Amino acid sequence: MSFRLFDAPLREPSQFVGFAGNTIDRQSENRADDSVDKALADPTTRLLLMNGGRLYLKLADGGFDPWYRVAESQPFEPSFDQGVLLGFSEQGPVLAVLAGIDAERLPETVKAIDYRSVYMQGLIDEAAAGAMAQGAALLAWHASHRFCSKCGSESQMRAGGYKRHCPNCGTEHFPRTDPVAIMLTATREKCLLGRGRHFAPGMYSALAGFIEPGETIEAAVRRETLEEAGIRLGRVVYHASQPWPFPYSLMIGCFGEPLNEDIQADLNELEDCRWFLRDEVRLMLDRTHPDTLVTPPKGAIAHYLIRAWVDSE
Ligand SMILES: [Zn+2]
Repeated sequence: MSFRLFDAPLREPSQFVGFAGNTIDRQSENRADDSVDKALADPTTRLLLMNGGRLYLKLADGGFDPWYRVAESQPFEPSFDQGVLLGFSEQGPVLAVLAGIDAERLPETVKAIDYRSVYMQGLIDEAAAGAMAQGAALLAWHASHRFCSKCGSESQMRAGGYKRHCPNCGTEHFPRTDPVAIMLTATREKCLLGRGRHFAPGMYSALAGFIEPGETIEAAVRRETLEEAGIRLGRVVYHASQPWPFPYSLMIGCFGEPLNEDIQADLNELEDCRWFLRDEVRLMLDRTHPDTLVTPPKGAIAHYLIRAWVDSE
């Protein structure tokens, strides 16, 4: 019997999802308190400018350019003292920095576009979208964790933005990543999809929910599916994960095997939840469904879970 782990395909499923193309070398072992200052003095440094959940994109050659040199970023009133070092690209250090000027004061040549639209519309390449997700998550965490949660004193950014230190009680705080289970419950013939109350018209997706403290991924998948749809799951298997910077989640995609058929949807959470046959889901993926029902767009991990099931035996 051979050990199969190393026969895995070169492109694992997580590499296909949106925000997965980050090529930055994080060099986490080299992060120091002066990392950002050193990067700011380096002429090869490039940075992303963000404000209010939006990325500041330069119009360039009929497309968009998200990268700024340090000097070039000055008119946007960057908060360099609150900048984070994402790591190093082949060209040099990469930072994410909060811009001081809001979208209304931007020049004609720069557009402020929300992260979701940037990635849904494919406005920047995969590597830049991955860097944006990393920077967006870190800047959002700093913005909402300015004060020590132990003693209430104002904390200070350290280690290039990967830590906050409380000068009063000495506690160190580390950036959060919130795990969310997203699961496609399926048999050979059909899969379970639900419609959240805030979804775009006609869209159905895999069910999802936050993993709670003390829970395994599998237990969370079973609990959420039972709570939201009244479906008990047997086997649960992991498929892929996705960084999701809204504000700092990690989507963990799984498949679940249903033990019962009768759905009891939680109508506080869902507007509708039902079984779909494989052929119908294929039409939803291809945007050719007669009732204009659709799955989430490419880039979302739900899309890839659903696609992987449709394309399976
Ligand atoms: Zn403290």
